[in-house]
Amino acid sequence: MEQVTLKHKRTTLERADKFISPVYFNDVNLRGRLYRDSHPLKSITHYAAPGRVSYQQAVKGKFTKTETGQSFGPTWSTHWFQLEIEIPDNMKGEEVHLLWNSNSEALVWQGGNPLQGLSGDYDRISFPLSKVLGKNKTRFSLYVEMACNRILGEGKDSMIGPPDMNKTFTLSQAEIAVFDREVYELIIDVETLHDMAKHITEETERGYQALYTMNQMINMLDLDDRATYSKAHQLAKKFFQQRNGQSQHTLYAMGHAHMDSAWLWPYAETVRKCARSWSCTIRLMEQYPHFTFTCSQAQQYEWVKDNYPGLYTQIKEFVKKGRFIPVGGTWVEMDGNIPSGEAFVRQFLYGQRFFMKEFNKKCSEFWLPDTFGYSPQLPQIMKLFGISRFLTQKLSWSLVNKFPHHTFWWEGIDGSRVLSHFPPGDSYEMHGKVEEVLRTIKNYKDKGRSNKSVYLFGFGDGGNGPSEDMLVRMSRLQDVDGLPKVQSKTPQEFFSDVEKEDCGNLCRWRGELYLELHNGTYTTHAKVKKMNRFCEFRLHDVEFLASMAHIQSLIKKAAYKFPTEELHRLWKLLLLNQFHDVLPGTSIGLVYEDAHQYYDDIVGSCQKLSSNALASIIADSAHSNPVSMVINCMGWQRKEVVTMSQSTGTPAKKQKKSPELVQIDSQGNTLAMVTVPSYGYAEAKPIKCEKPCSIDKKQNGTFILRNEYLSAEIDNVGRIITLTLNGDERNAISSEPGCYGNQFVMYDDIPLYWDAWDVMDYHLETRKPLLLSTKKTTIQDQGPLRVSLVVEIKISDQSSIKQVISLDTGSPYLKFQTQVDWHENRKFLKVEFPTSVHSMSATYEIQFGHHQRTNHDNTSWDWAQFEVFGHKWAAISEHNFGVAVLNDSKYGYSTRDGVMRLSLLRSPKSPDKDADMGTHSFTYAVMPFQGTFQSAGVIQAAYELNNPLDVHTLNPPKGVQENKSFFSVDNPQVILETIKKSEDLDNALILRLYESYGGQAKVKLTADLPFTSVKRCNGLEEILDNEVTSDLEVIGRQITLSFKPFEIISLLLKF
Ligand SMILES: [Zn+2]
Repeated sequence: MEQVTLKHKRTTLERADKFISPVYFNDVNLRGRLYRDSHPLKSITHYAAPGRVSYQQAVKGKFTKTETGQSFGPTWSTHWFQLEIEIPDNMKGEEVHLLWNSNSEALVWQGGNPLQGLSGDYDRISFPLSKVLGKNKTRFSLYVEMACNRILGEGKDSMIGPPDMNKTFTLSQAEIAVFDREVYELIIDVETLHDMAKHITEETERGYQALYTMNQMINMLDLDDRATYSKAHQLAKKFFQQRNGQSQHTLYAMGHAHMDSAWLWPYAETVRKCARSWSCTIRLMEQYPHFTFTCSQAQQYEWVKDNYPGLYTQIKEFVKKGRFIPVGGTWVEMDGNIPSGEAFVRQFLYGQRFFMKEFNKKCSEFWLPDTFGYSPQLPQIMKLFGISRFLTQKLSWSLVNKFPHHTFWWEGIDGSRVLSHFPPGDSYEMHGKVEEVLRTIKNYKDKGRSNKSVYLFGFGDGGNGPSEDMLVRMSRLQDVDGLPKVQSKTPQEFFSDVEKEDCGNLCRWRGELYLELHNGTYTTHAKVKKMNRFCEFRLHDVEFLASMAHIQSLIKKAAYKFPTEELHRLWKLLLLNQFHDVLPGTSIGLVYEDAHQYYDDIVGSCQKLSSNALASIIADSAHSNPVSMVINCMGWQRKEVVTMSQSTGTPAKKQKKSPELVQIDSQGNTLAMVTVPSYGYAEAKPIKCEKPCSIDKKQNGTFILRNEYLSAEIDNVGRIITLTLNGDERNAISSEPGCYGNQFVMYDDIPLYWDAWDVMDYHLETRKPLLLSTKKTTIQDQGPLRVSLVVEIKISDQSSIKQVISLDTGSPYLKFQTQVDWHENRKFLKVEFPTSVHSMSATYEIQFGHHQRTNHDNTSWDWAQFEVFGHKWAAISEHNFGVAVLNDSKYGYSTRDGVMRLSLLRSPKSPDKDADMGTHSFTYAVMPFQGTFQSAGVIQAAYELNNPLDVHTLNPPKGVQENKSFFSVDNPQVILETIKKSEDLDNALILRLYESYGGQAKVKLTADLPFTSVKRCNGLEEILDNEVTSDLEVIGRQITLSFKPFEIISLLLKF
């Protein structure tokens, strides 16, 4: 009888480990047999390309002989290689692979078609030559395009360090060899059994069964006797055929390659990363008929369509088969906090329309695995685009609190609900390993409510997506006792199965999905944030103006041509820059060179488009006299102090005639108070100033600024001592000792690792108020329309602030125009407004609405939100009184115990060593109010601060109206946010409105244009069915509409 030996678990596991190790005992182990008969290439020639050139350009290059051992560089350069391969007789008919390792990213080409990506990282160094190009062919001629970067960029010292620009990359392997598929299958058998033996809990027998099976396999295998190979494989097969019970959890496995549109590499490299990863995916799809791959971001599809048409055709075929699956419905995987409401809408509009046009498919799930928090307005916006399902993963990165669900209903601020799922394995880059599938069920928080979850596998960011190893591993895990079932599925199948079987069991999460990490990203790269906000407004304005010009010329049969293509181009640039590593400020410096070029393009182009549109609207003619016109691109009448252009001479003349009408400011500009109707224009006629503002210096050295609404006492370092509403003694600033409004404070800002991303809670313990002025504080403007002070404050020996504090006649807020010369290292600048308001919460504007967060640290969930995002305003209020802080380009806030803080500038050094260095200009304001922030007009005031009235010199012919309002609403609760031309119809406009107070509302919308019909439509501008549309009342040019709290309504008006 054969002796049965007791097996020591550790040594048995390690024995198997070494048996398949790529490092140890290769001369005698199984892994050492994977490739055989290696053979050199017939020839390799090289061409150093002048940049990221096309294949057609590259093949015309001058190629010279090269060989392995040579190095190529520097970082980000491109090198092309031409390979001649001849298969020797002993390899004929075998599975021959090209083994190529340039220790960088690379792409194999033939005949102008990209065949497959290669990468030294993750061992993606083989290309199955005979399988892809023909088993019986004996000669091959190929090109390899080598990109001098690895998959996660070239960070010096650490992954996120600024890139080392002078690296070289060595071609360490270039040969052909026979791939032994039988050995390969055995390696995966042993590896899977090993992992089951190692990771399955001791409480069941199953791990030990795997251990003994594996050991027996190794005993049985005589590597020199091929007959033993199949016997050993059969043994493993028998084990893997032992099935699960019916109740077992199922993992819906989907291939994925999370592809950052730019991050530690520039946009241009992502274009090539897509080609490398997606060509790998197509090659695998040809071999593995059940393999499905999910792929988001319409922008990346468009890149591949434009640059790799052959590959794109192949992708289209697999999309048709339902295996290459477009997901997400957005233009890029954008930041989830900072884009405006309309920008969110456009992400979906441009994304879904692309997928519909290219693939005849609407995505039914929003796919955003990796962003730094999720606005509670997203569910409603998703639903506007027919999307009711959501997948993300990033919340598992939260530092303090574990989110309590993986499958749940997420409810937005308006009550819209979407079915949401977080893959419980806490990764969107799984590898088909036993440990991961066990971790997935262990982590899963909704056990008993639903027994399914998503398992996303594949290397992201140029790691070339799913690998063959992953697919072969998972073939063992489909249904094997001891592990959850791992089955190749689609997102559609996953969400449909949950909806069918579990949806009544699921819990609900209301409001924001706050990521308790990366909250420095609301502030890092301040100029990117500023340009994002600025460009959102420029596109808003130009769309309104161009749409009015278009409809007017349609009616009058005039010649104006609506700039459809140009507006699409500009929107796409803005949407691309909203990618979740660009807008948050977490990319390398190279990315921001491109981003700012795009922003400048948007600003310059919008200026041209606006001028054209205005000229058409006002019927500009060179023969008439110039007139100053004020344009209002907001949905309410405005009465404000504006800066008139001096070049016309008109205001100056008027000033002489009527000095009470205008003011010449300290810069020599002429200021005047004007009114202009909602979404319209008016001739800039200065209005007499009935209640001038004033400024006085008190004996104690403080300054009093006063207008019809408020008074502020300011000390010689620009701090507010008292801020009162006229007729009310109450100081809006806290009377606690040491409390001043507009107090600049500096913090040490050294995170644990993620430099540009993270501000840690402990920074709050390093608060240092800035108290030194560098120059005497002086009065700059004395009224009657504007009063102002100039303050200069020292930050450090190398950094300083210059601030103009001003108050306009008729303005409800005190304004702070700020310039900072900023040269710090890991410091955080904020400005504080300690208020006298008693409240448990503060309110922050978000996309198309607002959201409340606590003003205290009762629980760990409150404390973890020490830094939060908000848009144009935040407010803290008690009954009948409150204070709001408005801004024109900031997104980081924190409010604790009544102290409101606006985050201004950070100074991280990785991944961009120059982030935020230099000069910055931005404006914020403080607005005390009576009543509520809604009734006091905080929402409108913040829009006005962001979009000051513009004065244009135009030449209208006689007979043109002096003023006109194209659209207006009669209820300030409802904001008419967007007026744009319809995407599909030439004779239609889209109007988007939202309820901004958080209550029900009825509103009359008046149009001064002869529309012929009005219908409600969705975000895609498809007309909704009659039931929804029937609550519109239309009388003449007046439309009456009803809103639910925070409801977004889009209307399609035909002309
Ligand atoms: Zn990402």
